[in-house]
Amino acid sequence: MTIVVLMGPPGAGKGTHADHLAGRLGVPVISTGDIFRAQVAARTELGRTAQRYLDAGEYVPDEVTNAMVRERLAADDTRLGFLLDGYPRTVDQAAVLDEILAAQDRSLAAAVVLQVDPEVLVHRLLRRAEIEHRSDDTEVVIRRRFQVYDDETSPLITSYAARGIHYEIDASADIDTVRVRVHEVADLLGVAAQR
Ligand code: ADP
Repeated sequence: MTIVVLMGPPGAGKGTHADHLAGRLGVPVISTGDIFRAQVAARTELGRTAQRYLDAGEYVPDEVTNAMVRERLAADDTRLGFLLDGYPRTVDQAAVLDEILAAQDRSLAAAVVLQVDPEVLVHRLLRRAEIEHRSDDTEVVIRRRFQVYDDETSPLITSYAARGIHYEIDASADIDTVRVRVHEVADLLGVAAQR
């Protein structure tokens, strides 16, 4: 049973490394960003609500995001653990996650944080914009997403560190180098889960 959250600023590589980390732990990935983008593409009501926030680089309101995650975490495939990519991102979301897990008699094993130099991040995101054409990868929106991350999400790292479940990875290097570091942390967590 391993329940892990993967954190890091926009462009840190959460999407890139989430699958490997989860694969190594043998748990599914739940990415709120991916769920929102899928809902936007499918033109659902949730997608319509989410789209204007995504396009502006703002967080989707907590009540919307929390309800979506609450429903997703009730699914059967989360029974043996899961990796959350991009959630929680606010103090309120973190409290809701703790509450959902407590109600299931479970708790968070680790918050894995990908840290990257801000200059490298802007560069990566602008390059991704050229390749993927994500609506939130323009320079103005990218700067807004960093600001929101610093204001709303960074404080969570401090609180997970205080709980002693925070694992920091320097993710400024190339993908293969970071992947090795991610695997090392996964192995640490796997060992802890077996104890
Ligand atoms: P990135 O981390 O690179 O910004 P994501 O794919 O994780 O990309 O998220 C894209 C967008 O989806 C966010 O900017 C936000 O608008 C929305 N989003 C994703 N997760 C959350 C969340 N937990 N709370 C609120 N909004 C979210």
